[in-house]
Amino acid sequence: MAVLEALKKDAQGRRGYKVSNPATLELIGEFRVETLEDVQARVKRARLAQREWAKRSVQERVAVIQTTLDLMIERQEAILDVICADTGRGRTESLLMEIIPAADAMAWHARRAPGALADKKVGTQTLLKTKKMVITHRPLGVLGVIAPWNGPFILGIASAVPALLAGNAVIIKPSEITPFSGSIIEQLFRDAGLPADVLQIAKGDGETGAALVEAGVDKLTFTGSTKTGRKVGEAAGRNLIEFTLELGGKDASIVCRDADLDRAARGVVYGRMFNTGQFCCATERVYVVREVADAFIEKAVAYAKELRQGTDGEQDVSAMIWPNQMDILEEQVADAVKKGAKILLGGGRNKALQGAAFEPTILTDVNHSMLVMTEENFGPLLPIMVVEDEDEALALANDSPFGLSGTVWTKNNKKGMALAKAMETGSVCVNESSLTFGIHRAPFGGAKNSGVGFVHGENGILQYCRQVPVIFDRLGLKEEQNWYPLTEKKRDDMSKFIKFFYGSRIFRKLA
Ligand code: NAD
Repeated sequence: MAVLEALKKDAQGRRGYKVSNPATLELIGEFRVETLEDVQARVKRARLAQREWAKRSVQERVAVIQTTLDLMIERQEAILDVICADTGRGRTESLLMEIIPAADAMAWHARRAPGALADKKVGTQTLLKTKKMVITHRPLGVLGVIAPWNGPFILGIASAVPALLAGNAVIIKPSEITPFSGSIIEQLFRDAGLPADVLQIAKGDGETGAALVEAGVDKLTFTGSTKTGRKVGEAAGRNLIEFTLELGGKDASIVCRDADLDRAARGVVYGRMFNTGQFCCATERVYVVREVADAFIEKAVAYAKELRQGTDGEQDVSAMIWPNQMDILEEQVADAVKKGAKILLGGGRNKALQGAAFEPTILTDVNHSMLVMTEENFGPLLPIMVVEDEDEALALANDSPFGLSGTVWTKNNKKGMALAKAMETGSVCVNESSLTFGIHRAPFGGAKNSGVGFVHGENGILQYCRQVPVIFDRLGLKEEQNWYPLTEKKRDDMSKFIKFFYGSRIFRKLA
């Protein structure tokens, strides 16, 4: 069962793929893989277009983004058609996963852009009070965005919008598994008045992604697996390109003894099964304190049993977007069962469905010798481990090379904050499920092997600018104290000044 089938090379020698809807296996289209030369030509066109785009005022750029948002709202059903065909997902879930965060990204960054990009006067230290400094913001040039298949619309838009507002051109390389959700992004912005070539889509697979890193872009935003991220980081480093890496995770959820068990069980099931578990911040492992474990597990199983798996567009849980994930899920379940895990729900392929559908599955009696507790998986597979107390839960949660996000369930916010601060992750939710990516005001990035750098946040737009300080002299004297000649007298004067000024704890505060 392939959602991606290789085509014969075309007359120009380009490889290509036929793509099918992963849930229904209906053919949805085909595309050719762009080569290094193709991508280099795109970067050249993008660079020319970017110069003109950057000359527009921030208000003009904001107006284009506002129109894009209007159009996206108007066309949401047509956009959902494409996303749902690419991913095999249900419509409500696609709206939640892709359209709402895209709308929020556009609205928030458009609101924030004029303030973030305005010139800013910044004071200088006491020694240099005769100078004035203004921080200005210049676009970097051309941003390359390499996206995965689990959020094919939002993960292109979330990086493109702030970069465009900052005056950059953007080339998005969508995943080969979900290429058509990328094409609608380009069309949407063009129809909203974005000049040609300022936003382009380069379709292809790993070859095209690797080409984008080599093709002369000024910055790269990569979202995908840790394995590929490492390759991208190495290539970007060799090319001296700035980069951010948003990578894999193995998010833990801690259920404390004082948790609201109904909310915790529903939240954990949602956190794991949302997007059929194909979510970087999915709850991949749960640690529940023994005192409340039986009640919690019973509730979680009951909620998970209610989930509807199907292909009619109204389902809660869908087929895997990339069927190869099925092998990973089957391997992890088999490994866990062999080492003593118990299957409380599901456990394997849903044979009633055509696509690679894995049943919502809950495992208990799991531990860290099992792959399901240590390696990332993208699927509706929820392992729950019983622990003695919250300290043990925390130690186990931190026992991972990943550090993307995490959740804590407790009625005591003070305890929630203490656990949140001790979790070695890029973000934490207390009594909520994997919400951080959807809040564009929150800086989002992974600790440990889950990422390098961050996106979003108050100053998310500044990720796509070079901050250039411009320093003015205020007094216009003929010369400065520190200029030539560098005499012994100057040295004595400066030495006295250092002792007088930096030698005083009070004056240090004026530095
Ligand atoms: P992947 O690493 O296989 O592919 C990601 C993208 O990289 C694809 O577009 C692919 O074509 C491209 N690519 C492949 N080889 C390349 C190379 N050598 N150079 C440049 N580009 C190359 O990841 P995936 O399977 O598409 O996505 C799933 C992964 O993404 C999971 O690990 C998930 O946790 C992660 N993810 C992370 C976040 C986050 O924000 N941290 C968000 C979503 C997904």
